[in-house]
This record gives sequence, structure tokens and C-alpha cells, in this order.
Amino acid sequence: MAEDRVKHHLAALHDAVEGPLDAPLTGLPDDDVIDVLRRLETTLRRTAAVGHRLVVEVMERSIPGNLDCRSITDFLTQTLRISGADAARRVRGATKVGTWHTPTGVDLDPALPESARAVRDGDIGPDHVAAIATILRKIPHNTPIERIEVAEAILATAARDTRTAVQRNHDALEAGLRHLHSSGVLGSHRGLPVTVIATMTVQQLEDATGLATTGTGGLVPVRDALRMAEKAHPVLAVFDHHGRPLHLGRSKRLASADQRLALIAASRGCTRPGCDAPASMTAVRPKHFVQGGPPYVTEWNKGGRTDIDSLDLACDHCHALVHDGPGGWRTRTAADGTAHPGRTEWIPPAHLDPTRTPRVNHRHHLDRTVAQALDNHRARRDAEAREHRRRWNRGVDETGDGDAP
Ligand SMILES: [Zn+2]
Repeated sequence: MAEDRVKHHLAALHDAVEGPLDAPLTGLPDDDVIDVLRRLETTLRRTAAVGHRLVVEVMERSIPGNLDCRSITDFLTQTLRISGADAARRVRGATKVGTWHTPTGVDLDPALPESARAVRDGDIGPDHVAAIATILRKIPHNTPIERIEVAEAILATAARDTRTAVQRNHDALEAGLRHLHSSGVLGSHRGLPVTVIATMTVQQLEDATGLATTGTGGLVPVRDALRMAEKAHPVLAVFDHHGRPLHLGRSKRLASADQRLALIAASRGCTRPGCDAPASMTAVRPKHFVQGGPPYVTEWNKGGRTDIDSLDLACDHCHALVHDGPGGWRTRTAADGTAHPGRTEWIPPAHLDPTRTPRVNHRHHLDRTVAQALDNHRARRDAEAREHRRRWNRGVDETGDGDAP
């Protein structure tokens, strides 16, 4: 019976691929070609999860040993005619996100549960899983398991960064060259006198512990930052409880140094989702919101008021991506009541996200991301504990003797 079902599904999968193999693509509009590409990728990632199930099955049955293969990698190399590296990658994937079983056949949780869910949904693929596993291996051994679980959840979500390694290097090189070029102005950099800018919380200032974020995206111990501040002219920027800077200026043609300092402290770097350009590689841009227009008619290029609420940081590369043409991004200020009120939301073009869901950049705010993920993790654990208690109590009521299931 089980054999019939698997055969039926495999035949259906074979037939399903038949259609797209022969269907003419030339008549499709560009958007549809991109959509087909995207949906195929999602399906391929989900088939990787099927591959993990099979690797687990093969290993739990000790099939390689029964066939005199030296290892599972050896078995996969011979059976599928793939390279040893590819076979090893698939085995590692199955080890990390596959569902294994106890000798009595009970399901065990995957080693990386959030990544396993994401692969099953087609959100991430084998390369993402490998990258997540590599990063998690670097976490110190004495880190509490709760923190490791949260780190995995953050990584599984963050693996949407769509840039390739080559493209990322190119972007970094370009940004670096621009940075070098613009710092040729003696004594000032993008309108600010050359200075050290460090951001820290009031708690960190009081305790003199933890790490402060610098304007160039680095981290320095708070103690060192305070020592540097002794020899400089300290500037204090104050924020509301959402992290929004207080109003520092209105109706000025150009962003003042004060405004830039406040924006550096609030945004810490380029605001486009996924961009890791630190504040020193950004410029202050107006995010011009057209009153009464559609929700995301926003244009950084068209100027407007330079009240600090209508300004934010973007690097030159990202700034150039904001336009009305095909493939252009839009920007707007996140409304009150949303998850990130006051922050700059970027609306991706349809080829990157067909739903055009606004996003903010978490890269420069990892402290907040971790705090939020920990809160979510604890809320989920509390809800599970409540549900467990509720079931247990119901069991007590029904049997009357406390022998709950
Ligand atoms: Zn950027």
C-alpha cells in the first residue's frame, strides 16, 4: 500500500515536470518569466527536503553497509553518479534538517528545527542550511541552548538575502572606493568633521559594559568608547522609546551635522533591507512622502523638507535603486502601530518580492533582533507550557484520579 502511494506520487511528479519542460516560454511577459523562475526554485528547495527524508531512510536501514559501501557518501556517489562533495553536502543537510527516529520509530526533532521548516516551505535551500550550520558551529560551547535556538531562528529568517557572494563583494568594493574618494575632503567626511561616533544605550553608559556601535559599523567595548570620549567633544543624542531621534531641525536646505549625528545614532547605517554599509558610507537622504498619494509614493530624489522625520541614511548604491522605473524600490516612514514605527521602510520591486511587502533593515540592529527573537521564543514556550497544563487538567477532570495522558 505504502509502495503504491510512493509510486503514484513519483509518477505525478514526473508528469508535472513534463509540462514546463515543453511549454513555450517566448510568449511570456518578463514578469511571468521571473515568476516561473522563482516558483521553480521554491519547488526545487522543497524537493531537497524529500531528498533529506530519503537519506535518513537509507542510513537508518544501514543500506550502504548492506551493499558493502564504505559510507553513505560512497553509496550516494555511486548510486546517483554525483561528486563526493555533493554527496557529503546532502548528508550534512539531512543530518541538520532531516527528521530522524528512535529505534522504536518515534520522530526526533531536527537538529535545526527552524531551518527544517524553512526548507520544507521552500524558503531556503541546501546552501542556506550549510551556511547556517557553519555559523552555529562558531557559537561558544557554554552558550545556553535557548540562545542557540534563537540564533538559528534568526539565521533561518535572515537567509533571504538574495545577493550572490560575487555581487556582495562587488557592492562592498564599490562602496569602499566611493568611501575612499569622498574622504578626500580635508577635515570632513560627508559634511561632518572627522570624528569618532559611538552609539550605546543608557544602561551600557551607566554600567560601562557591553559593546558600542561605531559609525563605521565596528564594535568597541563601551569602556574604550568612553575613554575616547574623554578627549573629544561629546554630543548627546536622545531618542524616544521606539528609538526615534528627537526633532533637531526644521526646514533647512541641507542636513545639518546634528541631524546626521542623530540619524547615525538611530539608524547606524544604510537603511535598505540587507545592506551592511555602515553609517560612514552613507549620506543623509530626504524620504519625501507625497501627502494624499498612494501609500508608497515616496521619492528620495525629489528633495522636500529636511525635518529629521523625513530624512534617513542610505549608501550611494542603495540610493540609486530608489526610482519610479521598472525594478525600482520605494521608501516610506513606517506608521505608528506597526512593528517598527518611525523607521524607514523599503518596498522592494515585484521581481524581488511579488507581494511588495515593506521591510526595514535589521543588519545594524542585531541587538534588537535578538531581543525580539528571545521574547518570541519565551512567549511560544510559555504558550506550550500553558497548553500542556490545560490538557493535563482536563485529563484530571475526565478520569478524576490524576492519571492524565
Ligand atoms: Zn545600502
